[in-house]
Amino acid sequence: MLIGVLALQGDVSEHFNILRNLLAAEEVTLVKTKERISELDGLIIPGGESTTVGKLMVKYGIDKKIKSSENLAIFGTCTGAILLAKKILGMKQFTLNLMDFEVERNAYGRQRESFEADLAIPVLDGKPFRGIFIRAPVIKNVGKKVKVLARYKNDPVLIEEDRFLAATFHPELTDDIRIHKYFIKIVRKYL
Ligand code: GLN
Repeated sequence: MLIGVLALQGDVSEHFNILRNLLAAEEVTLVKTKERISELDGLIIPGGESTTVGKLMVKYGIDKKIKSSENLAIFGTCTGAILLAKKILGMKQFTLNLMDFEVERNAYGRQRESFEADLAIPVLDGKPFRGIFIRAPVIKNVGKKVKVLARYKNDPVLIEEDRFLAATFHPELTDDIRIHKYFIKIVRKYL
């Protein structure tokens, strides 16, 4: 099994370090080119700035390679979640359009651009998960096949659809590895 962290921009090393704690060295890699995408079973798209990451993806042809990889499991956090969406509301901006939901960028507004909240996530055992939200998007209009795994004030914040997982918060900025473990389980299902 090989899981890559897309290393174009954003909090790449935090995801990489968590994966390295959970997997063997040869099972984790950083990805900067489209050629490497075909070697992967799983891909994490980190948080950052979705306009920048989207533009770089298109420039390097990584978007097409991702879209044609039919068994590739993908976990997007924040910017990564935005890029997995079908559509960004109120904006003409590139997305991969791989999951059935729409998204509103920076939707929590200035005064609460960043905040933390304990999230109940029934698919994970144990205590609530500390969600760190940084200029987070809000997930809207989820399709029927999308499973909502956690909500914050009624908005979905962690969702799953087939081989895709999207979080509007940043599990890589905590030392709680349960969501990464959950993603690895999804990757294994599609090997
Ligand atoms: N606000 C950023 C965007 O729209 C996302 C922020 C993040 O990834 N922490 O891309």
